[in-house]
Amino acid sequence: MQVKILSAKFDIKDANKIKVAKKHGAYSTLDKVFSMPPEDVIELVKNSGLRGRGGAGFPAGVKWSFLPKNTGKPVYLAVNSDESEPATFKDRYILVKDPHMMIEGIIICSYAIGSHDTYIYIRGEYTTQVKVLQAAIDEAYKAGYLGDKVAGRDFKLNVTVHRGAGAYVCGEETALLESIEGKKGQPRSKPPFPAVAGLYGCPTIINNVQSIASLPFIIAKGAEAYRAYGTEKSPGTHLFGISGHVEKPGMYELPLGLPLLEVIDKVAGGVWKGRKLKGVIPGGSSTPVLLPEEAKTVTLDYESMAAHKTMFGSGGIVVLDETVDIVHLVKNLIDFYHHESCGQCTPCREGLGWMLKIVKKILRGDGSMADVNLLRELCDNIEMKTVCVLSAACTMPVRSYLDKFRHEFEAYVAKNDSSAAEAK
Ligand code: SF4
Repeated sequence: MQVKILSAKFDIKDANKIKVAKKHGAYSTLDKVFSMPPEDVIELVKNSGLRGRGGAGFPAGVKWSFLPKNTGKPVYLAVNSDESEPATFKDRYILVKDPHMMIEGIIICSYAIGSHDTYIYIRGEYTTQVKVLQAAIDEAYKAGYLGDKVAGRDFKLNVTVHRGAGAYVCGEETALLESIEGKKGQPRSKPPFPAVAGLYGCPTIINNVQSIASLPFIIAKGAEAYRAYGTEKSPGTHLFGISGHVEKPGMYELPLGLPLLEVIDKVAGGVWKGRKLKGVIPGGSSTPVLLPEEAKTVTLDYESMAAHKTMFGSGGIVVLDETVDIVHLVKNLIDFYHHESCGQCTPCREGLGWMLKIVKKILRGDGSMADVNLLRELCDNIEMKTVCVLSAACTMPVRSYLDKFRHEFEAYVAKNDSSAAEAK
């Protein structure tokens, strides 16, 4: 089941060093790239069907083609390495184990979109990743793959690593840009979208680490070779982080489209300790939970997830066994998103706080059925009424837990005698 495209060099000792990486093919696509007109590179990426691996799944080549032409302004590339979604741990592998694959991808993308400045926005907590990545960038400058003449060509490219300060919301692309500009990391109202007015008001493409790292393979082998993996609408491979109650948690590269339960059983060793499956979070904490019977029919691709009213997200799969207390889980979830709210929208800043107070009240045994109903109502009232989707990243999964595990909330309420009476 497992494949090795992005992870091809992960088991090679010192593959983060340019000498070793080059021995295993790093930077070998540049002759081909520079022999192609930039628009042909965009077309090739479009044909590969590569979709943004940060969570939204928007086709990368299509995104690039949104850049306005001949504005007279510089074009920027921002690589989103702010991997902060709980249960997501894929990009950190690329950053540490094969940073030259990403730098090669940056060169390919920059050439295609006509950009000469890349900012890699990396989360503040990634201390090791920053060190390894910066060392790789320094090596790439020294070897002539970055700087005034990339690979000896008449193409200039500078790459700057920008460390965040540890705010989840800076993974949102416009908050990320604000943060690079030295401002408070708060999302901007859209439109205008970054492709039109992004970093310093200039056209900007923002791509995730894994999306960028997928480019060398696509250039080397072609669009069809990439499409040989995955499904028609969700082609290629993905680094899936499987965690929670499985025997073999870890990061696995798999083609898209595989049955979720088969992956949990065959790749991650199944639910641990011989326990029963209670639910699966399919793509990071912000994605709605799947019940075991739903998990039976879902496959690991964007379309199947949408058909099951959830999302592919970041590919961070969390397996929940029968012992999980869903009300506690929901408390932790709301606590996280409430803490990470940037505070500029009232429904997010105040609403998530109300939700947290209510769920804590239910957990204490002081809750009523009216509180459970109010919690559910708040999900609907907060969502899509805010500047960014952080609030929805909280309300969407909470709604799914309330709808699918309502009996667990009611069980807490039933412990409270007075509210049980009130419920009758
Ligand atoms: Fe900030 Fe929340 Fe509004 Fe997003 S939804 S802009 S995080 S307050």
